[in-house]
Amino acid sequence: MSISELNPPLTDADLPEVYHSVESEVRSYCRSWPTTMAVAQGSWLTDVDGRRYLDFFAGAGALNYGHNNPALKKPLLDYLASDMIVHSLDMATAAKTNFLETFERLILRPRGLDYKVQFPGPTGANSVEAALKLARKVTGRESIINFTNAFHGMTLGALSVTGNSMKRAGAGIPLVHSTPMPYDNYFGGATEDFHWFERVLDDSGGGLNHPAAVIVETVQGEGGLNVARAEWLQALAELCRRRDILLIVDDVQMGCGRTGRFFSFEEAGIVPDIVTLSKSISGYGLPMALTLFRRELDVWTPGEHNGTFRGHNPAFVTATKALETYWASDAFANETEAKGRHVRDRLEAIAQNHEGVSARGRGMAQGLKFAETSQAGEVCRAAFDRGVTMETSGPRDEVVKLLPPLTTTVEDLDKGIDILAESVAATLP
Ligand code: PMP
Repeated sequence: MSISELNPPLTDADLPEVYHSVESEVRSYCRSWPTTMAVAQGSWLTDVDGRRYLDFFAGAGALNYGHNNPALKKPLLDYLASDMIVHSLDMATAAKTNFLETFERLILRPRGLDYKVQFPGPTGANSVEAALKLARKVTGRESIINFTNAFHGMTLGALSVTGNSMKRAGAGIPLVHSTPMPYDNYFGGATEDFHWFERVLDDSGGGLNHPAAVIVETVQGEGGLNVARAEWLQALAELCRRRDILLIVDDVQMGCGRTGRFFSFEEAGIVPDIVTLSKSISGYGLPMALTLFRRELDVWTPGEHNGTFRGHNPAFVTATKALETYWASDAFANETEAKGRHVRDRLEAIAQNHEGVSARGRGMAQGLKFAETSQAGEVCRAAFDRGVTMETSGPRDEVVKLLPPLTTTVEDLDKGIDILAESVAATLP
């Protein structure tokens, strides 16, 4: 018996004509999920025809606390209703003061992180650009080490440290001053991939310019849910320290509790020199980003790196409330880790039933890897027809990635995974 109701398959033609006639061909998510979404609450989306979808995508990680979270909505509505300031560049506002004080009190101080906070433009790519620029300014060096299958954003600097060849080709100019190194387990354990970097760095014949920084994701979200082991991250941090290279952890997707702790690098016990955050930092899906760095690295001169949308006060209001609601104790992180283990166990069980399928991920960023590259896309499509939104990742789109809101109940997680299991069974031979 089917555990889900199969929706009549929707196609691109089901979208309003204006998408075809006016919106650029570059559009993508409305192609994967060709329906008009109307309302959303928690882990559920409802389209204009009343079809409900369990959201295992969560705004690509921007909705860790779910859609329209009531705890955050109330202060946001109160703020707007009272004509408090909305746009303020980087002027001082009460909302910004509260955010900075709360972030310092609940996130930085308890972790012993003596970071300064920069507000770049409101996207992940903005934060990465600020991080790369600062690393170059501090060190006076230009080259950056990045990793195979990395994803850091679509602006030219961020793209230059991104692996995906299709995305890189979009730049239209040479992407320079970056050198890719093998990420953990790139050679499937056959070679100690990390040592390649150390070797060329130490070899006067290695041909590597002394880099300003290394930029790394602890789990590569877009790159196929590749997980770096804690030992690998520790060795990387140690090498950076020994060789006077700045370590940038891009926590845009894996930060804000996605892997359990607030920062994804906490588990490895490393302290990056620079950290990028965006996506779920506002907690409500409102655009906001931070670039954090060790106090001594704060060599910016006033206004040297600016931008119009660095002070979106409604985002400060929801970000502050999200920190107070979920990060005043370890309870939320513990719960996320427990949910992550549950999801992983269930994915392992699905993988065992199908040849060529394997489970991968960390915390609440989990997924299934398929042997045939078209299979992951077909599974996502089958899941959409059954009422679950999830997307693919990896260089060949070979991984089904599950990023449910961290607030999803275990019952809803199970419901979505049941549908995933059914979609896999319906897709694979
Ligand atoms: N870094 C990482 C690790 C990301 O996953 C992303 C977005 N998927 C970005 C940077 C870029 O963020 P944005 O799309 O907000 O520019």
